[in-house]
Order: sequence, then C-alpha cells, then structure tokens
Amino acid sequence: MNTIWKPTPNPQSKQRRSRRFLLLAVVLVVMILGGYFLTDFSQPPELIVTEQPPFKEEPVHIIDTNTPLKDNPQNLIPDHISKRTITSGDNLSAIFDSVEISQSIMVQILAADESLLALDILRPGNTLTFTLDEETRQLVEMELFIHPAHQVVYHRVDENSFDYEEIILPGEWEQQLIYGEIDGSFYLSAIKAGLSEQEAGNIAYLFKSKLNFSRDIRAGDHFQVIRSLQLIDRKLTGQSQIEGVRIFSRNRYYSAFLFEDGNFYDDQGESLARAFQRYPYKGRYRVSSAFNPTRLHPITGRIAPHKGVDFAMPVGTPIYATGDGEITRVKNHPFAGKYIEIQHDGRYLTRYLHLNKITVKRGQKIKRGERIASSGNTGRSTGPHLHYELHIKGRAVNPVTANIPMATSIAKNKFKTFQQRISELIVLMEQSQEDLVGT
Ligand SMILES: [Zn+2]
Repeated sequence: MNTIWKPTPNPQSKQRRSRRFLLLAVVLVVMILGGYFLTDFSQPPELIVTEQPPFKEEPVHIIDTNTPLKDNPQNLIPDHISKRTITSGDNLSAIFDSVEISQSIMVQILAADESLLALDILRPGNTLTFTLDEETRQLVEMELFIHPAHQVVYHRVDENSFDYEEIILPGEWEQQLIYGEIDGSFYLSAIKAGLSEQEAGNIAYLFKSKLNFSRDIRAGDHFQVIRSLQLIDRKLTGQSQIEGVRIFSRNRYYSAFLFEDGNFYDDQGESLARAFQRYPYKGRYRVSSAFNPTRLHPITGRIAPHKGVDFAMPVGTPIYATGDGEITRVKNHPFAGKYIEIQHDGRYLTRYLHLNKITVKRGQKIKRGERIASSGNTGRSTGPHLHYELHIKGRAVNPVTANIPMATSIAKNKFKTFQQRISELIVLMEQSQEDLVGT
C-alpha cells in the first residue's frame, strides 16, 4: 500500500470508484442540463450538430442539506461533496477558501501535482469536486474535471499528503472534412470554414517553411482539411486532431499528412516538422535523475513519477528552447519552482523547471536554440539542476531517448504504408468534396 501513483483504474477501492462514477454521471447530467458542450468550434461540424453555446455559468456549490436524499432521488450529491466550476479569473487559493478548505491542504495537493502541474492551468469550464470524509469533515479527495476524456483525482494518502490518479480515456474519433476558400488571410478563412483558432494557427505553422501565406495565397484559392474529433459516449470532448491538409493555390499545391510516427509529411514524404535539438543547454551535464514513471521521490521517499530528466548544473547555466514554439506558461510553483512551458505545435510540448532567471514572457514566439532562462534551484529541489520534460500528444516521454522530429523524410521501408495512408485521406477529401457540392 505504499504506492503513491497508480495507473488507472485504481484497484484500491471499488466503493470509491463507484462513488466517483456516480459523481461523474451527475456532473455529466448537470453539464447537459446546463447546455454545456465542450467545444468551441465556431461552426457546427458537418457530422455532428452542436448548437449549444459555450459554457458560461457562475460557480455552483451543490450542497443541498434541506432535502433528505430518500425524499429526493434526483439529488445524488450529498452534503460532504461540493463542486466548483472554474470561471475566468478564478484562482485555486480563492476556490479553496470558498469551500472552506485550508491553504495548507491546498499546498499538500500542489505537492502531489508537482509532476503533473495540472492545477496550474485551470480553464473556464473545468470543475473541481471536493469530497470530505463524512465524519471527520477532512478533505479525502479532489477531482479536477478537464473534459470528458481527461480527469485527475487527488486522493488523501495520510495526514500530510495526497497522491493523484490521471484518467485519460482514448474515446472514439470521427473524421470530418472541412473545406474553405481563401477570403482575406488563410488564418481567418480557416476559422470561417470551421477550424478553431488553435487549429488554424497549427496549420499555418506546419506550412511555414514551405509557403508564404501573404505572398503565395490569394482570394479564391481553396483548402481541404481532414480533422478528427474525439467523442466519449457519442459526445464531443472538444479534443481534435488534424490528419491531412491540402491547399490549392492558382498554380501550386501544398499538402500535409499525419503519419503513424506523429509527424506531418508532404505528399512526397518530406517531413514538415521543424527539427528539435536533444538538450536545452550547451556543453555536457550529468543526468542526476533519469526519466522514471515509478521512481521514489528523493524527499518524500514515496513512489512518484519523474516525468522529466534532471541535469545537474550550476545555477546560472543558460537554458535554450529545444524547438520553435510559443511560451505558454511562465510560472512559479511552490514545488516545481520557476518554470517555463513551450508549446511547439499541436503535439509537442516542453517544460523547464527549477529555473533561476526567466528571460521570456508568456505568449512570446520562440525559435529553437533561443535563450529562455538560466538554470537554478527553485522550488522543492535537492540541489542546482534543470528538470527538462518533453511531452508528445499530452504524454511525458523520455527526452533523452524519444524519437524527436529531425526534419527528415519517410524511411524507404515505410513509404508504401505512407502512400496507402495519404491515398485514403485523399479519397475521403475528394468524396466528401463531391458531397459538399452536391454532385
Ligand atoms: Zn526532476
């Protein structure tokens, strides 16, 4: 029973799981009744109709002590459970105050969240559900509901600490064709056609080295995008993946197809991914703690996943971005210390923890090899080092061994599989295209 982190499902407590399932069901019902649909696509997808507006609800506090449960079978949330829906401007500390849970308990949860950092970006529409022990009124569990396919549950382990369980459901994915004509910029035309801002930005980023959007594209040119949308129980989760893009300009044709290795290639099999560099520093530094999903935490002595690699280096060592991207977080966490997160495109993300001095701002565009910080020893740290993480499609991977994009082409022995894949996507584009124009 020493295990602090377990992959889902948690075998520890059937009762807790069924309670959580019940809670999840209630949360879903509340969301549906509230007209909530986890999507911000500006135009209803072709295959699935989503007419509900984006969720805008005041924080709710579902505590109903007036109606005994037996008299009200609809009320499934007893008084030791309370729920908060995040609205813009909320912060964790104020939410804990509002449910009358002390800041020291919050710090215990933040300690559990150190390797995940999920609580550092609460988004409007996320919910936090607090479950107290019915007798002692002590917090025993807190659930962060991000979307129907992604939740994190923090469980009390003992008097002073929590662990966490991350629930990631694969769901089903449904393909959809989006067709658009250029009218103004590509970015705005793509949004008008039904892509999200992030998707339009990712596509522009994808073609950046091949195509000058202001010079090579003009009004009347058109584009096709195959996008797949994630569904859980036939409902959209808001998660999507671009699988193929074709842009037809007056005399040229540009394409990008997602292959099984997670990278995009043009129809000739040339990679569109911009290269990464392996390490975020120059010179050589010793690995003081390797990537290890089941390591013992050096300070608490418990099993806690180590989702990055620690490189021992003196405070003040220059740290560089390992790939082109945008700074999405500049934070100071009580345990992770001063840290930076960079989103490189839809699939790659890097984090740099325990920094000393940060020289970039959130929202800033960054180039591979550009200096972003100097290393430090901030947060909960056993000595000066850099903790570096690489995430691919939402999962932390070993940055020392991961297959990172090196801007090459499809391997010869994979080329047949690749051609098969692009011909399937093109068939889908052409067929759906015919349906769209009604032939
Ligand atoms: Zn580390």
